[in-house]
Amino acid sequence: MLTTLNGIVLRERSVGESDKFLDVLTDAEGLIEVFAKGVKKQNSKNAPVTQLYCYSKFCLNESGGRYTLNSAEPIRTFFELSQDIEKFSLAAYFSEMILYVATEERPNNEVLRLILNCLHFLCLGNRDIMLLKATFELRLMSEIGLVPNLIGCCQCLKYTASRMQFDLRGGRLFCEDCVGNRSLEEMEPLDAYLLHCLRFIALTDMKQLFGLKARKEYLGTLCRITERFCTIQLGRRFPTLEFYKSIRTER
Ligand SMILES: [Zn+2]
Repeated sequence: MLTTLNGIVLRERSVGESDKFLDVLTDAEGLIEVFAKGVKKQNSKNAPVTQLYCYSKFCLNESGGRYTLNSAEPIRTFFELSQDIEKFSLAAYFSEMILYVATEERPNNEVLRLILNCLHFLCLGNRDIMLLKATFELRLMSEIGLVPNLIGCCQCLKYTASRMQFDLRGGRLFCEDCVGNRSLEEMEPLDAYLLHCLRFIALTDMKQLFGLKARKEYLGTLCRITERFCTIQLGRRFPTLEFYKSIRTER
């Protein structure tokens, strides 16, 4: 059966001399594996669309839940990412996270929109890279159902305070009065501005999401908080994140 899906290639694996397996995040079927026959041959017309981060309209043969590439029209390639090691390694981290959390059973169009937007602004270069990283991390958690409760203090419901504690494991806030003598090891202190940024990223409409102009002096802290939140919530450290960080410190 022929089926048409829009999707982005998040991983490619060579099989033998001429074939590839692709992990593709699609609009309607979530994350799928696609067998691409003959695409490593020199004259293959489908070779370009099997490159990493190529977003295409795929025409696939589907049989018993297995997909084989028939043809595809590229929509957006993002090939320019490969010219910048920092951007490329951040894109690799985004991919690794999605490959870890996405499933075929739970198609999630918002996750696809999120990575397409992040890669778009990464290529465009008009958004701070750290802000894109923080946005991707926290928003991904929100989209897969791990949205933290940032409405107010989880005990007294206080909405604003000059200082709150963000409980990264519990995904909730404590005001200074209610935090009591809880361990602060897995908490991050937030001032009103940081809390505003986190609320914005987690909760605003996707259309407005990339309009956030976070103040430069806050970006490092924001980035650390979203990264710790992901690491604790997913219980996993990503090798691509370590690589991205090693590149950054070398600059
Ligand atoms: Zn409170």
